[in-house]
Amino acid sequence: MQLFKYSIIFVLWVGTCLAIGKEDHSDSFEALRFVQAIQGQLPSQWLESPTHWRNLAKEAILSKERQGPLEAVAKNGIFFIGDGMGLTSVSAARVFKGQRDDGARFGEESSLHMETFPYSGLSKTYCLDTQVADSSCSATAYLCGSKARFSTAGLSPGVVFGDCRGQNNTNFHVSSIVEWAQREGKSTGIVTTGRVTAIPGAANWAGIAQRSWETDADVAESGKNPEVCPDSGIQLLRKEAGQRLNVLLGGGRHRLTPVEKIDPETNSPGKRTDGRNIAEEWLVMKEGQSGMARYITGRDELLGLNVSEVDDLLGSFAMQGLPWSDELERDNDPTMQEMVQVAIKILSKNPNGFFLFVHGGKIDSAHHANRPGRALREIVEFDKAVKTGDEMTDDLDTLIVVSADHSHTMGYCGYNVRGNSILRHSIIPADDGFVFSTLNYVNGPGPAWTNPDTGLRHNVLLDNTSNPNYELPVPVPLFSEAHSSEDVPIFAK
Ligand SMILES: [Zn+2]
Repeated sequence: MQLFKYSIIFVLWVGTCLAIGKEDHSDSFEALRFVQAIQGQLPSQWLESPTHWRNLAKEAILSKERQGPLEAVAKNGIFFIGDGMGLTSVSAARVFKGQRDDGARFGEESSLHMETFPYSGLSKTYCLDTQVADSSCSATAYLCGSKARFSTAGLSPGVVFGDCRGQNNTNFHVSSIVEWAQREGKSTGIVTTGRVTAIPGAANWAGIAQRSWETDADVAESGKNPEVCPDSGIQLLRKEAGQRLNVLLGGGRHRLTPVEKIDPETNSPGKRTDGRNIAEEWLVMKEGQSGMARYITGRDELLGLNVSEVDDLLGSFAMQGLPWSDELERDNDPTMQEMVQVAIKILSKNPNGFFLFVHGGKIDSAHHANRPGRALREIVEFDKAVKTGDEMTDDLDTLIVVSADHSHTMGYCGYNVRGNSILRHSIIPADDGFVFSTLNYVNGPGPAWTNPDTGLRHNVLLDNTSNPNYELPVPVPLFSEAHSSEDVPIFAK
């Protein structure tokens, strides 16, 4: 189908160039050269026949027919959010996975596990007061069911950014899906590759008028009184949804512990200035509830747990967010898959069922840094966690939803030959004589698009694009690449 579509585009394009005028030799010549170059790259015997494509279409329709409605009340729910995983990211990650992992001939024909789910849709993501969402207003929307103001979490529109008084007004607090699950007698858990006290996870228990308020020091840094504006760490201990949360796994030890406490693994102090140790206080609180609570900081401890002896688990494996997925082993940090596995084992002991929220935060970090290779790797890791969640549960009693909170400016373009590495560039130069990358960001901290001395565009041919830390050059300089407001996908089963 893809090939058919592109053939049509090429034919129309060539036709248009020829029709514009016989004088326009350069355009038509370039277009023909382009088509010939593309077609010359792929031997026709490699390309699938019409029968292949028609059989695929038939199988897709038949599988929908066989699927039929599944009418039951879900006992368990797992909600996966790929932070910043817009539609373009999903398309590019599919090709990346196909080319790197699947042994696919070209890559484009592969699928992520989330894409095999029987139901899909699209979601708008704007905030109550901004065109483009951040991860906290959107968290309030998809976890609490109400749009919120930019950079606030777990609070209704009555609270503006940084409004302490509003934050303390219980009329402005909005409940979350974690609370609703707890009211139904279900176990609840959160897994994140970010900090455990950060949004979006924290929006499940906390209401904060400024998303950075994870410790008293953060509140003070913003010029507010921490005794008046409780941070998300304190709210984990004070708010009922936090107190009743069974599993909380991720990074962020720096914000759980006081400055006086030197972390034995990293030899660095905590961030809290009020002397509170949230991790230790959580453990004491949970021991009082279930008597089967654990606080862990390493992957080996996580994998060595006897889950029959653990009902409540706090794991904070890194001082900040977890490292990139290919650096986890170096730091004795678990993968998303491993965290999801242990979380489900503990939560599923409850006969009433469970709700688990899983947040893939590294996708967003990579996009913000203009690193497409990193972003695609992190989506593939996220997808493995989705697959684990799917394999460990039964479709008859478990609802799984996978979505994103917003998108990024990454585009996926150029008429490259099928199977061209998704991280590389076009085969035909642009009008300035330089080739261009298949993936591009509109803005961000990457190197300048144009050399200020020569006025020439950055030559990506000279770049090592397979290095995961490679940063794409950008036309608009910005300290951190900006989110985008394109709709995001929803996959469900
Ligand atoms: Zn972001």
